[in-house]
Amino acid sequence: MIIVKTKEEIELMRESALIVSKTLGELAKAIKPGVTTLELDKLAETCVRDHGAIPGFLGLYDFPNTLCMSPNQQVVHGIPNGTPLVEGDIISIDCGALKNGFYGDHAYTFAVGEIAAETEKLLQVTKESLYVGIREFKANNRVGDVGYAIQKYCEDHGYGVVRELVGHGLGAKMHEDPEMPNYGKRGRGKKFVEGMVVAIEPMINMGTHRIKQHRDGWTITTLDNKPSAHFEHDVALVDGKPELLSTFAYIYEALGIESNEEEEFRQNALIL
Ligand code: MG
Ligand code: MG
Repeated sequence: MIIVKTKEEIELMRESALIVSKTLGELAKAIKPGVTTLELDKLAETCVRDHGAIPGFLGLYDFPNTLCMSPNQQVVHGIPNGTPLVEGDIISIDCGALKNGFYGDHAYTFAVGEIAAETEKLLQVTKESLYVGIREFKANNRVGDVGYAIQKYCEDHGYGVVRELVGHGLGAKMHEDPEMPNYGKRGRGKKFVEGMVVAIEPMINMGTHRIKQHRDGWTITTLDNKPSAHFEHDVALVDGKPELLSTFAYIYEALGIESNEEEEFRQNALIL
């Protein structure tokens, strides 16, 4: 059952989304060769709690940490550990937070120092596919329209679209209806209605779309051990159009990146 949100609830969700956005911005400043994913996890937990929120993943389905940290060939759900990042790594970071009874859920794949050009391309295309998908989250469209758009964009670049893991409705629960696959057929699936809030999150592999699950019960990696990227935004359907609740602006501020990619999805100016 899809649980639509009131305007007031969407504003509370925006607050949660901005907390996870700020947290990823803090991490952007700290990511460099030599830092461990466990150190970054502690930094994120402090940041989330300093904003009066609680980590959204910690304890959720018994997950042990604040962040899912998935380097290189790991797709999602990697567990932070004491291994230092090295120059040329990529690290997909997924962060959840709960405040005022609502979750924020946000992910970004970071480069650690200089990375290979083909990996840079994977990150760029995966992030572009996120916006290609968000553009289809509008009145009278359906779940399949978002999935189709993301899948076509990524497969046209020769990449693999993970099937087993999907985006989702977001609200008082981290995972609400509907499931939001990154693949699909136009015009299929549940219809989008005013007040829906979803997490759209393409998980895109450089090679095969196939994945494997590790014995730890969490970590998912690509079957061919080629890199994978993951970007996630929280989006509300407001006045028939997609309205971004999360933002990469804090990350871009930290990294000195100029971007207007989010502007078309904001009905009001972003207040950082
Ligand atoms: Mg997430
Ligand atoms: Mg999510």
